[in-house]
Formats: sequence, structure tokens, C-alpha cells
Amino acid sequence: MAADRFLKENGLALTTSVNRADFYYVPFYRFCGMALDYIASTVVEQQQIDFNEEIADSVVLSKKLQLKGKNFDVTIPAITDAGFGLTTLGIRPAAVPLYSFCPADIPAGAKIVNANVDCGSIVQLAQNLHSVNTNLYNQGKVLYSAMIGEQISLIYFPIWALIHQQGSNQKTIFVDALARRAYAQIDGAFELGDNLHQVIEPITITPSRHQCPNCGADLEDKPFSLYYPCTNCKRAYMLAPNGYRQIHPKTANSTKTAPFWRFPLELKGRETYKTVMDYSKILVSELSFLRKEKRDNPFYLYSPAFYAPDVGRWAEMALRLLKSQPHDQLVEKIPVAGPDLAIEQNEAKQMAAFIWKVAMTRYRKAQKDEFQVDELSLPDGEIVWLPLEDENLLSKSRNYHQVNVVSR
Ligand SMILES: [Zn+2]
Repeated sequence: MAADRFLKENGLALTTSVNRADFYYVPFYRFCGMALDYIASTVVEQQQIDFNEEIADSVVLSKKLQLKGKNFDVTIPAITDAGFGLTTLGIRPAAVPLYSFCPADIPAGAKIVNANVDCGSIVQLAQNLHSVNTNLYNQGKVLYSAMIGEQISLIYFPIWALIHQQGSNQKTIFVDALARRAYAQIDGAFELGDNLHQVIEPITITPSRHQCPNCGADLEDKPFSLYYPCTNCKRAYMLAPNGYRQIHPKTANSTKTAPFWRFPLELKGRETYKTVMDYSKILVSELSFLRKEKRDNPFYLYSPAFYAPDVGRWAEMALRLLKSQPHDQLVEKIPVAGPDLAIEQNEAKQMAAFIWKVAMTRYRKAQKDEFQVDELSLPDGEIVWLPLEDENLLSKSRNYHQVNVVSR
């Protein structure tokens, strides 16, 4: 029906007799990450004219600084010249429920098409695409950028190839099996090149069952989390390259918390900067008014350790934490369950360094070499659970996942 609707709309002869219908899974690379940009836009303002002073120039230029965050999510074909006539997926991957690949769910007879585009080139392409977009939609200069938690994955998209007879000729019409809409017709019977058939058994994601290394109790099933508390023996673990690493979580005494990375920042120039008081000499308007009790605490850079659908608010929160240094009343216990701790330390360092640059932009003094921080120069940090009052962000982040896992 979808095929005939397309043919009718294009004034072509209907399928009448279908010789064959082949079902394909066509691969696309998906690149997604939380994109952050700090942009200085030039704003033109109309100044009030003071006739007594006879100001000739009534227009002033000023710089407006903006912290922008978005979920960057693009798909790029993973095959070249296969003849499916698809140059883009045409839909945002976030709009489609995605499931981790499971061969048992693939209908019998379906052909899985091999990717033949190198994924390294896709990363470069995606990042270029992001910077082109950023420059296109923003008037101004991008001062700093960061891409946090970027992932590249393969999406297999379902396509029907309907081969039908028209007089003595065969024709093929392609149908998007998700939208149930035909999108192209070609002459001849479509055949996939031999090199594009998937011959290797695809790798399947099987959520691993986590068990407490101490007492053996089953740990909660959280396929995207790096953190696993044991409700039985009250110990807590982070995933480590060779198993688990026990941690002693510190949390705010609150019923709504979320995990954050924090990194102590120590800078040496003519003076040593280590405590909140030291840094209040640089970040004058942010830190000078903090409570007295905080002044001798070490100064930390913060990064959220969870994914959020609203990247702008997520980034602003990290900036607020840097300015409020809210770490003086934490207790050592298992925190209440919040969003999954899913951001690795290296990604968090990148975020923390980005937020530092943003905070320092307004201060001329801070542009000196001794105040430059990059993710490689930060020491190892720790995880703390801090109150997250933004109910909307909290509930969305709790339910945020990039792919569905079918449990068996
Ligand atoms: Zn246990």
C-alpha cells in the first residue's frame, strides 16, 4: 500500500504484481554528545542621545556572553553507494525508540547490511558539522567549546525493497519500514553487492548481572551506570577496568540528589592558589561573599556525573557549583537514588576545565598563563552527591537513556 501510494502520487504505474520483497537493515552511524559552546556575540545597542552633550555616535557595540548547551545528535550513512537512495536517516534518532541489537529479534530472511565506512572519519565529520551549525545559528565568536560524553554507535534502519513487474521490466521501490512510506523507485531488480552482506555474527549487548564483590547480593540492574551500591551490606562500588573499586560516597543530606565529580584545583604562579579564599582574589564577585566557614576549604571544580536532556541547564548548574562551592556539609553514607552516574572521569575533567574557562572570561587577570587549566592538568577527583532542586531536570535525567535494553 505504501508503495502504491508513492507511485500514485508520482503519476507512475502501480505495482500490480510483486515478484519479491526483501527486508534490509541499513546501517547508519549515530554520533551524539552534549555540546557546549561559550559564545561572545556582538550586540548593537541604541544609546539614548543626550542633546546637551551632543553625543554624535548614538550606537554602541557591546559583547554579550552566552553559555549554550545542546544534545548534539546526528546520523550519517555507514555505507557508500549501496543503492538504497538514503543519504540521511531523515529523523532524529531521539524520536525513535532504539533497542540494543539482538539477533533473535531480527525477522527470518532479513538481510543485515555491512557498514563499509570507517568510523574514525565519522567523528571528524560530526564535529565539523557541529561547528558549522554553531557558527550558522549564532552571531558571534565561539570562545570555548566542549563535547562531553560523546558516543558513536551503529543504528540499523529497516527498509523494504519491493521488486515488481511492469510489462517486461522489473522495478524496485524502497519503503521506509518505520514510517511505512515509500521514498524512491529505481529501474531493475535491486541486488545488494556481495561485499555488503553481513556475514559475521553481530555483537550483541547483553546487560551483565552485577553482584556485590563483598556479600554476593545482586546489585540493581542499571546497564548505563558506573556506580553500584549494595543495599545488603551498605558498600558502594564504581566499575573499574578489572571489576569493581570500592568507594565511600559522600552525600548531602537531602532526598533529591545527583552525582557530581569534583576536582581540587591548585594553581601555582607568583602565589599558590588552593583554598576558596585564595580563589576569591581572582573570582572576586563570585566568591567574596561566601560564608566564612567555606573560606579555608579547598577550592573545587565541578562537573555533573549524569546525562541530562537539557544540556543548557546542566551546564549552568556546573557553573553555579563553582561559584557556590557547596561542599562543606557532606556525610559519608549511601546517597538516595538519583540519576545514573554515567559520565566517566576524563569526560568530567573536560567539562570542569570548560566551566573554569567560562567563569574566568570576565577577569582580565585570569587570562595569565598561570590560571590556564586543561583537562590533562587536573588531578584525579571524587564523586559527591549534591542536592538537585530542579525537579524537572532531575526527573528527566533519572529517566534518560540512549538505548533500550530488552531483558531476557
Ligand atoms: Zn554487599
